[in-house]
Amino acid sequence: NLKNYSYPIYISNGILSDIGLYLRNHLRSGRAIIITDSNVSNIYLQNAEDALSKDGFVVSHLVIKAGEESKNLYTVKRLLEECFDFGLLRDSAVIALGGGVVGDIAGLVAALYMRGIDFIQIPTTLLAQVDSSVGGKVGVNLDEGKNIVGSFYQPKAVFIDTSVLKTLNKREVLGGISEIIKYGIIKDESLLNFFETNLEKILNLDDDMMRYLIKRSCEIKSDVVSKDEKENNIRAILNYGHTIGHALESITRYKKYIHGEAVAIGMYYAGKIALNRKYIDESYLLRIKNLLISCGLPVDYGNIDKYEIVKCIKHDKKNREGKMKFVLPIGYGNAEVFDVLEDEILNVLK
Ligand code: NAD
Ligand code: ZN
Repeated sequence: NLKNYSYPIYISNGILSDIGLYLRNHLRSGRAIIITDSNVSNIYLQNAEDALSKDGFVVSHLVIKAGEESKNLYTVKRLLEECFDFGLLRDSAVIALGGGVVGDIAGLVAALYMRGIDFIQIPTTLLAQVDSSVGGKVGVNLDEGKNIVGSFYQPKAVFIDTSVLKTLNKREVLGGISEIIKYGIIKDESLLNFFETNLEKILNLDDDMMRYLIKRSCEIKSDVVSKDEKENNIRAILNYGHTIGHALESITRYKKYIHGEAVAIGMYYAGKIALNRKYIDESYLLRIKNLLISCGLPVDYGNIDKYEIVKCIKHDKKNREGKMKFVLPIGYGNAEVFDVLEDEILNVLK
């Protein structure tokens, strides 16, 4: 269990069946509501509710339609009203059971309800386990853009059950793998070695492997975030691969790539910019490329127009002042934020 941040992160196979026991130490009252989505509820809701009620919790659930389309203020309003109807009080808790969509929405609901009640995360996608459940960002989308409305709101505890990964589809697993490789490139070269040595086991979701990767990822993210909770500077290195990645997602209207796939392509191309600046050598970039490919992740964006990619990067909310910020690897297992010129980007794109 990880305790280097302000709340504990429990990682274990099958922990979902024991959450009642653990939660007694973290929650102020016995009243809680589980927020989950229409896929996860079919597989894990019963288990979670049983685990809570057998330890004396009075628990109910709210189910949202699975998918990013639910991540909006209408869903938040409905959930807040339902929390009130269930009789949630100031000392009650909201429990997020699901992927990043559920976690982001439920966290916002917990932050807003009666000015903030206890919040627990039970992330069920690999992406949520290694990324969105750690760091305290919660929020929803507007039609105008993703994650425009939100807050920083830390959970009381995070419970990561590696056994739930078995029901996740392959593509969703790879989306999480992409973020883990990102942590290796920006902070920990040994994580890349670990991938190269154990690739087959990892891709088969071997439990020891997954527990190690999730633990290291949460450590790295907690570490970066705790130095810079509100994203001024240091935290920005977590955006490695995301500048071009977001542009690709947005140009293809979030239909062609899942997030981690777009990030994989973005990491490769940001690596090319770093290579041109001689921050890394050619063999290291090739190593990154080969690792991504052998995991089954893309490193190529097909025939998307490079001028459109650059235009999109310029409009990104993180680049409002006209400068284009890029996270670039410098040496092995290290990265920093740099201002990059338009021509440098165009030079590496096709
Ligand atoms: P998601 O929550 O939509 O989950 C993906 C799909 O997997 C959904 O259909 C879901 O129902 C299903 N699913 C979840 N767990 C499952 C399981 N164990 N077995 C079978 N199916 C399961 O997507 P995601 O990739 O987890 O999260 C993406 C969201 O996370 C985005 O909205 C993004 O903005 C957000 N995010 C937030 C942060 C943050 O710091 N708060 C960081 C990264 C991403
Ligand atoms: Zn990401």
